[in-house]
Amino acid sequence: MTERFDLVVIGGGYAGYPSAIRASQLGMKVALVEKSKLGGNCLHRGCIPTKALLQSASMLSELERHGEELGVLTEGVSFDYSQAAKYRDEVVGKLHEGTRYLMRKNGIATYEGAGRFLEPKKIEVRLKEGGEQTLEARYVLIASGSAPRSLPGLEIDHEQVLTSDDVLTMNCLPSSLVILGSGAVGVEFASMYHDFDVEVTVVEILDRIVPDEDAEVSAMLKKSFAERGVRVLTNAKADPKRLRKTNRGVTIGVSTEGGVEVLSAEALLVAVGRRTITESLNLEATRVETNARDEILVDEYYRTAEPGVYAAGDVIGGHWLAHVANHEGLIAAEHMAGKEPTFLDPNLVPRVTFCRPEIASFGLTEDQARERGQEVRIGRFPFRAVGKALIEGEPEGFVKIVSDERSGLVLGVHAIGPRVTDLISEGVFAGLVEGTAQEIAMAVHAHPTLAEVFGEAAMDVDELAINL
Ligand SMILES: Cc1cc2nc3c(=O)[nH]c(=O)nc-3n(C[C@H](O)[C@H](O)[C@H](O)COP(=O)(O)OP(=O)(O)OC[C@H]3O[C@@H](n4cnc5c(N)ncnc54)[C@H](O)[C@@H]3O)c2cc1C
Repeated sequence: MTERFDLVVIGGGYAGYPSAIRASQLGMKVALVEKSKLGGNCLHRGCIPTKALLQSASMLSELERHGEELGVLTEGVSFDYSQAAKYRDEVVGKLHEGTRYLMRKNGIATYEGAGRFLEPKKIEVRLKEGGEQTLEARYVLIASGSAPRSLPGLEIDHEQVLTSDDVLTMNCLPSSLVILGSGAVGVEFASMYHDFDVEVTVVEILDRIVPDEDAEVSAMLKKSFAERGVRVLTNAKADPKRLRKTNRGVTIGVSTEGGVEVLSAEALLVAVGRRTITESLNLEATRVETNARDEILVDEYYRTAEPGVYAAGDVIGGHWLAHVANHEGLIAAEHMAGKEPTFLDPNLVPRVTFCRPEIASFGLTEDQARERGQEVRIGRFPFRAVGKALIEGEPEGFVKIVSDERSGLVLGVHAIGPRVTDLISEGVFAGLVEGTAQEIAMAVHAHPTLAEVFGEAAMDVDELAINL
């Protein structure tokens, strides 16, 4: 029998489930279809398991680096990865249960199975428990997310050649690892595995690591990795044809400026980006359009070319971030419910990377602003000059504010250092309310806190920083 709803959401990740909740809050009758686990990639194979493991890595490294200095004697400290993996799974399990509760609380009908279009507003669910269920709706939201991708000719075998999905379900550590790609995923794993005493080499085809970040941030991370002993090769191209597997691990040929180098490790982690999941949706039954990268094309309210069918999250490409997927899903739901939600400004999206030191940014980099012909003023302040960073033993890094020369408006913030992934919200809010660097400087920053770096960087825009 066909069930009828106002909205059917395909995919219960960070785009899909918040959208379902918002639609329900606004009075719509909602169904959510999830073929794997509610919470999606972010909860089960992305943001949460990585950060849980990074928390273990951070505690271990903090004890090793500063314990004794602070009078915490670390003699006898050992590390058990299987326990760290258990902690990872427990955190994921609690949040998974919380998400299931939210579905019940908001009266959302949840179908466990894979959804596909029969017609533009008719979805067939192949139920996990067996059989099919047809759902009809006024609106459909496609939130089917993404999966890891590989390099052409490089086959993932899930044993020696791995993706992030594979390493996040492993309960043991490799002794050595080559990581292809130095975007957020690549450097987070590099940082974490190095703290777990794994020998790590990062291979990046471009001329700098974290290449989407401000050049000064890339340079500082490279220096920091080098000091810690994480090997980084830039301008280096891995050749899938030169991959060899042995019973002790893998070797791969990498073309560098100095010639071909053969790297060997117990495993190879391919962290070169993601691809959208659209193949199983039978989009042919709709007028939904995709681009050459198979990303679904949408407008500013996330409407596809098929009336009443929306798409949000990784499946539309763009930022590939959970908090963006979340906002897109909320805007789509509000628009379906007849509201006029404010568009998401891509310049106000925070990018966060949880390596050590952390990286966070939003808006224009200095180079981008200058390339656009914008006159800019830069404020910069290092963590080593604020008391709290010294107290915490984390003096590495800085906050850099890019502001408009004449108006003082904050155009971008680029930060590397302790807890900048939390601190960046201050800059994003300033950007949202069209605040100036001078207004950030005017805001009273509590002492001693890491946030003082923001106030000082803002004062430095007018060369008025105090503590340097
Ligand atoms: C290792 C790693 C770390 C990350 N860390 C961060 C981070 O720290 N911060 C951050 O912001 N982002 C992070 N991300 C990115 C983040 O995980 C994604 O941006 C986010 O998960 C996108 O959400 P989504 O809902 O669009 O897609 P997904 O989370 O991929 O959810 C899509 C869901 O749809 C389901 N689905 C697919 N097809 C069907 C179908 N036909 N029928 C029913 N269900 C279907 C899938 O099973 C899945 O559950 C990380 C990613 C990775 C890989």
